[in-house]
Amino acid sequence: MANTYVFGHKSPDTDSITSSIVMANLEHELGNEEAISCRLGNLNKETEYVLNYFNVEAPKLIENLEDGSDVILVDHNSPAESIDNLENLNIKKVVDHHKIALETSYPLFYRAEAVGCTETVLFKLYEENDCFISKEIASLMLSAIISDTLLLKSPTTTDDDIRAVEELSKIAEIDYESYGLEMLKAGTDLSDFSIDEILNLDAKQIDFKDVKSIVNQVNTASIPDVLEMKDELEEGINKIIEKENLDIFILLITDIVNSNSEILVLGERADLVEKAYNVKLENNLALLEGVVSRKKQVVPIMTENA
Ligand code: MN
Ligand code: MN
Repeated sequence: MANTYVFGHKSPDTDSITSSIVMANLEHELGNEEAISCRLGNLNKETEYVLNYFNVEAPKLIENLEDGSDVILVDHNSPAESIDNLENLNIKKVVDHHKIALETSYPLFYRAEAVGCTETVLFKLYEENDCFISKEIASLMLSAIISDTLLLKSPTTTDDDIRAVEELSKIAEIDYESYGLEMLKAGTDLSDFSIDEILNLDAKQIDFKDVKSIVNQVNTASIPDVLEMKDELEEGINKIIEKENLDIFILLITDIVNSNSEILVLGERADLVEKAYNVKLENNLALLEGVVSRKKQVVPIMTENA
């Protein structure tokens, strides 16, 4: 049997990495021994912390696959965020929690739910299929749900996520609150990164109707620490705007302790942010109280106002 490559989105986060491992394991449980967990980019600090903590090997790094290969997408479905030749691959399954941006000319298994994390959907799939959840698998699932929901504080959090965290922390035998805060903090350490790397850590290309944009999110325990690099960040952002021909670039600097975001906005259509949030940008900056979710509190509001 041919291999099935399981991977999350480019610039992978903890959900994309752990979901590829957990989904490949589910496939094994269901009899598809040839499922291999893969990743489309380097691990971020938070994910490194998670894999080290539980002593789990990182998925295999892939850059391209032969046309016609079987793949399973997790934590994304948008071709823009996926492997470059996706249109020539055979998508067997999708397990996701994002809006649907995929069109295929063939039928496939598609499971997406409006929950906080792909791992919450996977948790349900394990339950539905009566599959064994090991301590290791539970720990990985738990880490991703904490990561995507910022310890269940993000407005993307649903009752399903809360139930999954409760069940999984029992299996994993982990006090999720203290572990989760340490994990999130590990992810905010930017000291080893160049400006270009910071601007690519969690960058998503999202168009608000005709407005071409990138929204990048950086988590921190201290917004002023990140703003010490403001001049360099702006220089880097302007280069990306020029290179990608963007109308707007939004850097969302999210305070994970207080659940707010400062936004640094550049581009010809920076006015859209002022209109959408009824704020005035000062030196390209504005504080968005209570905004922590790009998916729920940025993308829809910006699209509506574009
Ligand atoms: Mn993700
Ligand atoms: Mn996710």
